[in-house]
Amino acid sequence: MSEVVRTVVVKSTPLPRKLFMVFVELEGMYRNMVEQLVLYAARSGITSFTKLKALKYGELRSLYPQLPSHYAYTACQDASTRTKSFFKRRKKGLAKKDYPVVNRVSIWLDDHLWRMKSSTSIEIATHKGSVTIELEPHKQYWRYLNSGWRPASEAKVKLDKRSRRLITYLVFKKSAETYESRGFISVDVNENHVAVLVDDKAFLFETGFKDIVLGYYYRRRRVQERYDKLYGVNCRVKRKIFRKLKERKKKSDLKWKLANIVVRAAWERQYAVVLEELGEEPAKDMINHIGDNQLRHRIYQASFKGVQKAIEEKAREYSVPIVYVNPRNTSRMCPVHNAGIIYSNGCRIGRCSKGGELWHRDVVACYNLLLRAHLGNGGNAPSLGGLVVDGSPVPLGSTATHDPTVATRAPWARWKSLEDTTKPLKTPTNTLQGQTVVI
Ligand SMILES: [Zn+2]
Repeated sequence: MSEVVRTVVVKSTPLPRKLFMVFVELEGMYRNMVEQLVLYAARSGITSFTKLKALKYGELRSLYPQLPSHYAYTACQDASTRTKSFFKRRKKGLAKKDYPVVNRVSIWLDDHLWRMKSSTSIEIATHKGSVTIELEPHKQYWRYLNSGWRPASEAKVKLDKRSRRLITYLVFKKSAETYESRGFISVDVNENHVAVLVDDKAFLFETGFKDIVLGYYYRRRRVQERYDKLYGVNCRVKRKIFRKLKERKKKSDLKWKLANIVVRAAWERQYAVVLEELGEEPAKDMINHIGDNQLRHRIYQASFKGVQKAIEEKAREYSVPIVYVNPRNTSRMCPVHNAGIIYSNGCRIGRCSKGGELWHRDVVACYNLLLRAHLGNGGNAPSLGGLVVDGSPVPLGSTATHDPTVATRAPWARWKSLEDTTKPLKTPTNTLQGQTVVI
C-alpha cells in the first residue's frame, strides 16, 4: 500500500478590495512570524518543528492575539522547513547570506484554518473571522475531485496582488494497492532514446535529452561570455535570456509524456514495468566520453534519472508495480544464445557471435531486462514470451523483434498511448530517424 500526493493550484475569483485587504494584513503578520522564527531557528540551530513550537508558541500568541491560534503552528512548520533547507544550502556553500532570507511567502493552513465548503469554495479562518472564498475550478481540479483523490488537511495560500485573487495550493491524496502483475513491460533508457518492449513489440522513442542539455549548456555559455564582458556578471538582460531558454520545461514535458504512455500501457495489461537499477553516480559507459563532470551529471539527471523518476511517480498513481533489475551487460549479450553481440564501431545494430542474427542495441537491452525480471520473479524461466532461451539455435522468426518501431520526438510528443504508433503519421517527412525536430 502506498500513498500518492499531488498539489493542485486553483485560483480564487477576484476578491473585493476590502476582503483582499484582510489577506494582505494576514500575510503581513504571518510573514513577520516566519521571519522571526527563521532568525531564531538559524541562530540557535533548532530546526525541529515541535521544539520550535514548544519554545515560541506563547510569544507568537501574545504578539498577534487576534490571529487564530493555529497560525502559530503553521508558521513554526513553515519556518522549520525553511531553516532546514537553509542549513542544507549553507553546507553546500550555496547560501548567499549567513541567515535565511524570507522572500516569497505563502500562508500555510492546517485543518483548523481552512475547510472545503463546497466543491467550488473554501472557508479560511482569519483575524476578522472566517471568510468564504470562491474558487475558479479547472479541468484538472475536477479530475482529481471526481476520481478517487481526497483533499488533504493541509493547504497553502498565496496572494496575487495584481489581480486581487488568492492562489490556493490544494493537496490531494490517494492510497493505492498494487496488483499482481501478469507480465512485464521493459524499459531501457539511454541519453537520447527510450526503448520500450511490450508483448514482443519494441518501440524506440527519440527523446534527445542529451542534445537538449548540451545545446542549452553551450548556448548558456555563449550568452554568459558575451554579457559578462558587457554588463558584468549579474545583469538583467542575461537573466531574461536564460529564462527564455526554458530547458527545464522542455525536458520535463517530454519525460512525463513518456511516463504516461509506458505506465498506461502497463496498467491496461496489468503488467509490471521493468527498469534498470541505477547507481548513485553516472557510471554509464555511454556518457563517459563527456569529460566535464558537471555536464555528465546533468545529462544523467535529465535522461536516466529523470525518466525513471517520472515512470516511478506515474506508476505509483496507477498502482503499477515496478521491478528493478541489474543493468549489467544488457546490451552486450544475446538473450537467445547467451553469447556476446558484436557491434562494429559505433553502430547500434550488432550481430550475435553464436547465432549470427542481428540485434538492435536498445531492443536487446529490453529483452535482457525482461529475461532478468522473469528469472528474478521465480516464474517458469527460461521461457521468455514465446522465445526459448535454452541456447538452442532458435531463429528469432520475424524481424519485428530486431527492428523497433522508431518514433521521432515531434510525433510521439502528441500521442496518448502506444496504440497510436499504428496510426499513419500525417507528415511522413517528419518521421526520418535521427532527424532533429525542434519543438
Ligand atoms: Zn544470438
